[in-house]
Amino acid sequence: MIRNDLKQRVFHLIDQERDRFIDLAKRIHNHPELNFEEYFSSDQLVGAVKDYGFTVKKPFAGLETAFRAVYEGKKKRPRVAFIAEYDALPEVGHACGHNLIGTASLSAAVAVANGIGELPGSVLLIGTPAEEGGGGKIILEERGAFDDVDAAMMFHPSGSNQLWKYAMASRIVKIEFFGKAAHAASSPEMGINALDATIQTFNNINALRQHMRSDVRIHGIILDGGRAPNIVPDYSSSLFYVRSLDDDYCKEMVKKVKDCASGAAAATGARLSFSEKEAYKTLKTNRPLTESFQKNCESLGIIFDETEPYDDIGSTDMGNVSHRTPSIHPYLSIGEKGLVYHSQDFADAANSPQGYETMLLAAKALAGTAVDFLFDMDLQKQVKKDFTG
Ligand SMILES: [Zn+2]
Repeated sequence: MIRNDLKQRVFHLIDQERDRFIDLAKRIHNHPELNFEEYFSSDQLVGAVKDYGFTVKKPFAGLETAFRAVYEGKKKRPRVAFIAEYDALPEVGHACGHNLIGTASLSAAVAVANGIGELPGSVLLIGTPAEEGGGGKIILEERGAFDDVDAAMMFHPSGSNQLWKYAMASRIVKIEFFGKAAHAASSPEMGINALDATIQTFNNINALRQHMRSDVRIHGIILDGGRAPNIVPDYSSSLFYVRSLDDDYCKEMVKKVKDCASGAAAATGARLSFSEKEAYKTLKTNRPLTESFQKNCESLGIIFDETEPYDDIGSTDMGNVSHRTPSIHPYLSIGEKGLVYHSQDFADAANSPQGYETMLLAAKALAGTAVDFLFDMDLQKQVKKDFTG
């Protein structure tokens, strides 16, 4: 059967099941859950995907609200994974539209698995909790959840149609200073002021800003600044995110931030404790997979906006997945241009007729891309070459 006929069958299945898919996304929207507490949402997705013949492992990789659903064809490989997100934000609920991401990925997985008789590979739906700050995919990636995946894909709702954009690497830095307490008025000369060291660190970092690349972001808060004004603070701590569009440069900048803190320690006499950990990696967009996604979108009437890949960038834990396996993370519009992430307007758009239509279109475009990948050995080779090259 030619590829277009296969795709028509897959698209037809999405049309047939549309009310069920929309209902599922609505239920998740109406029950927003935070990082690693997505019990209801993950159960909804797992219940639905089981109905379509998938075998599910949950909890997965030691995370209670993560899951891995598999539908095997003739052979196990190649293995295409659709990535589901389903966590929400405090107060504003699904203001990043992850209810649409989870359901679009489920719809695509179900359509490819059920729409085409026998598959030449297998289809996965991987449930990844805690995108908003918890970095669920980082943990899953470290535990090998994507090691046997040949291509990973998802879409993200947005205010515009954007095929790809950059995402920043981000590292988390904790800075602590240990000083010596003393009466701040009667014997200040006996004290070592840990808060001064923290403030000096902020000032040093602000001086550094003039001499770093424009793609760097360094932003921090003071976690502990002392107990009372009449006690010289013997302990102070702060937390920074250091971000860049370049994983290596991000590491270099962390070294400079450490120098800023060391300088502050020398100036004040406080002892420094410095720890860092990697949070997000940059997003490596796979070019051949992106091209396939673009063609599928165009065949569905989606027109991409004129945007720059630097517009409106942040960080995503899909970045970490993209360093492990070929990945795409495109954006499709669910509302007005200029729709702001994490706002009430975004939450409303993620529960609007337009939001649900975009979700179904995204499911079709992702499913079409998976069909291309599974049935085209040439594309599989190109995808691999782009990833390893
Ligand atoms: Zn998001």
